[in-house]
Amino acid sequence: MSRQEHPLGISFEFFPPNTDAGREKLMRTRDQLAAYQPRFFSVTYGAGGSTQVRTRNAVREISQSGITTAPHLSCIGSDKAQLRDLLAEYREEGVDSLVALRGDMPSGTASMGELRYANELVEFIREETGDHFEIAVGAYPESHPEAPSLDKDVENFARKMKAGANIAITQYFFTADAYFNFVDKARALGVTQPIIPGIMPITNYTKLARFSDACGAEIPRWIRKQLESYADDSEAIADFGNEVVTRLCERLLDGGAPGLHFYTLNQSAPVLKIVDNLTG
Ligand code: FAD
Repeated sequence: MSRQEHPLGISFEFFPPNTDAGREKLMRTRDQLAAYQPRFFSVTYGAGGSTQVRTRNAVREISQSGITTAPHLSCIGSDKAQLRDLLAEYREEGVDSLVALRGDMPSGTASMGELRYANELVEFIREETGDHFEIAVGAYPESHPEAPSLDKDVENFARKMKAGANIAITQYFFTADAYFNFVDKARALGVTQPIIPGIMPITNYTKLARFSDACGAEIPRWIRKQLESYADDSEAIADFGNEVVTRLCERLLDGGAPGLHFYTLNQSAPVLKIVDNLTG
């Protein structure tokens, strides 16, 4: 019998904790979010494979909730033999979904690995494991920071979808039209798979600004200005963030987005407020 899913088609992303307290918190968050019947959970992977063991442990624990749990897997810095072993281990543990990424190297590390881009990783997973895994890949509505242009980035994106990815999850963004524009461009290149918007709740301006600079996500000026005006009033930031991100999600869903993937940062309250606003 298939499990009932939340009507909005939601999914939630976690990072692997590195302390016992972090682990306990994540298990509470997992249970609170599992009650909302997400399509899946996913667990990030540290740059260059630096969290490999922690990611695997977190996937094992999170999947005990009965919700499909997809490890993120990046190819940069790993050779094919290492990736083959990891895929075999995941298969043995009953994992059947992955988020396949190129990843970024930790600074100061030189070796790139045998696979250069995510499309090569998707091809490799299909060659090695056939259709065993449902594969998600990353998408960048505001363009990946290294790409020479948005059009070139969408071409590269289409290549990895054609290599056998089942769905895409986007980097977060705060401008709905960037998402719609990206989807139109991808469809024009023949991409038919679902492209799920990645949603970042706004709870801490300093961290959000730092992270956005690093990953190339734009915080529109009007949002920046408003957040700056709250200084360290975390309640005002959370209220404003909740309103802005809820409106963004409404626009995305009204415009045909096939679901919402939330970057939880291992916290349940900010994302559940948004989901409740959307359904309430
Ligand atoms: P790719 O699709 O390989 O693209 C990387 C760059 O290369 C782009 O500029 C692209 O235009 C270009 N390119 C792609 N293919 C080709 C080609 N064949 N020839 C020439 N150029 C090409 N990082 C982590 O370290 N751990 C995580 O767990 C993690 N999770 C993520 C989850 C999501 C949903 C997203 C969107 C990103 C995540 N990231 C994660 C970040 C990601 O690793 C970085 O953005 C990384 O720089 C690119 O990964 P990618 O798989 O999108 O790369």
